[in-house]
Amino acid sequence: MAATWVPDVSPDSPFSLANIPFGIISSPANPAPHVAIAIGSQVLDLKVLSSYPDFDDLFPALKNYPGIFSNSTLNEFAALGRPVHREVRSTIQNLLSAETSRPEILKDNLGLRQDAVLPQQKVKMHLPMSIGDYTDFYAGFHHAYYVGALFRGPQAALQPNYTHLPVGYHGRASSIVVSGTPIKRPFGQIITDPTAEPKHPTTAPSRRLDIELELGCFISIPNEMGSPIKVTNAEDHIFGYVLLNDWSARDIQTWEYVPLGPFNGKNFATTISPWIVLADALEPFRTKQIDNWTPLQGYLNEGKEENIFGIELQVDLETPQGDSTRICTTSSKYLMWSFPQMIAHHTLGGCPLRTGDLLGSGTISGPSQGERGSFLELSEGGRKDIMLQGMDVRRFLKDGDRITIQGVCGEPGQKVGFGECTGQILQATPQL
Ligand code: CA
Repeated sequence: MAATWVPDVSPDSPFSLANIPFGIISSPANPAPHVAIAIGSQVLDLKVLSSYPDFDDLFPALKNYPGIFSNSTLNEFAALGRPVHREVRSTIQNLLSAETSRPEILKDNLGLRQDAVLPQQKVKMHLPMSIGDYTDFYAGFHHAYYVGALFRGPQAALQPNYTHLPVGYHGRASSIVVSGTPIKRPFGQIITDPTAEPKHPTTAPSRRLDIELELGCFISIPNEMGSPIKVTNAEDHIFGYVLLNDWSARDIQTWEYVPLGPFNGKNFATTISPWIVLADALEPFRTKQIDNWTPLQGYLNEGKEENIFGIELQVDLETPQGDSTRICTTSSKYLMWSFPQMIAHHTLGGCPLRTGDLLGSGTISGPSQGERGSFLELSEGGRKDIMLQGMDVRRFLKDGDRITIQGVCGEPGQKVGFGECTGQILQATPQL
C-alpha cells in the first residue's frame, strides 16, 4: 500500500494507511461526539469531511444516511454491514494516499484539511458504540489450562466441556468504559481467613484486583430471535475489534461465584480501546487457532483453518512512582475458539445479538511465564511476587497503578493496531 500524505505518520504507528480504524471524538470546534478515523498521530474528522459538497458522490453507499458521521456512536454505521464498511474504508484510504485519485477533495484542499485533519492530542475519545449487551467468553486456551491447573492440578485442568463449546457468561454493559477512564477499586464480600469454618465474609475493598487481557468483537448486523447465526455466515455480523481489559476482583469472585458464576467480581468495570479496527483491516493477519483435538459439533465447524488473528499483545504496568514494567507479551493466536464459533454458539438457541453488542474473547495467555494475561497467572494464584522496575513487586494491583494494553500486527509503515487500552486504579471510596 502507498504512503499517506498526512504528516507525522511514524513507521511504528498502529494507525497506518493499511488500518483506518473508526472511533468517536469530540473536538474544540465540534464539541458534540461524532465519527472520525485515526491516521498516524492525527484523526480525520468525518463529520467535517461530510460537509464537503460532493460527499454523496464520494460515498454513494451513504447517500441515504445523511448525518451518519454526526452520530454520537457508530451503531448506525455498523448496522450497514461489511460491504459498506469496506467501500467507505477504501474511499478514505484513497483520499489519504499520497497517490490519491481525488487530490482536490482533501490533499490539495488546504481549507478542508485544516478543519478535518486534527492532532489526536486535541480531541477527546468517547465510547465508540452504544453497547446493549456484553458477553464474555473463555476462549484463551493457555489461560483456561493454567488457571485450571492452579486450582485443580494439571490432570483436571480443563473442564470436560472446554473443547466441546466456547464457554461464556453474560456480562454487564453499563460499566464498559473507554480507555483512560480511572477505575475505582471495588468493595465486596471477601473471605479474609480461608481456613476458618464456617466461612465469615467481611465487606471491604478487594485485595486481589486483577486484569484480563482480552480481544473484544463488536456485532454489526443483528439476528432475529429464534434464528441462529451459522458459523460460516458469522463474519458478516462482525463490525470490528478492540482491546479489552476485563478488570476482575479475584477475592470477591472466589466467594460469590458458586453456583451461578461471576457477579460483583466482574461487573464494576471493563475498559476498551477507543478505535474499532474493522474486520477487513485484520484480514491479512489471519492465522490458525490452537488445535482442538475433539470432534466438533456440526454447528461449530467452520470448514476452514485460519479463523483467528495473530495480533502481538503486550501489557505494561506503571507504578505510582512512575516506573514502567512490561509484565506480559503474547499473541491473540492463543485462542481455541474463533469469534465466528462464539457467535454461532451464542445464537444456537435463538438468542438475538444486536448491533453494538460486545463479545470478549476471554483472557489471552501464551504457554510461557512472560506471556500470561492476568496477575492470577503471573503471581501463580497470588503466591509469588512479580518483579517490577524500581525494586518493587506485585501480586495484584495497588492503588495508583496504571495498566496499558497494546496490540499490533504488520510491518513498519503498514501496521494495523489498536493504540492503547489504559486505566489507572483509584482507591476505594470509603463505605457509607
Ligand atoms: Ca474475562
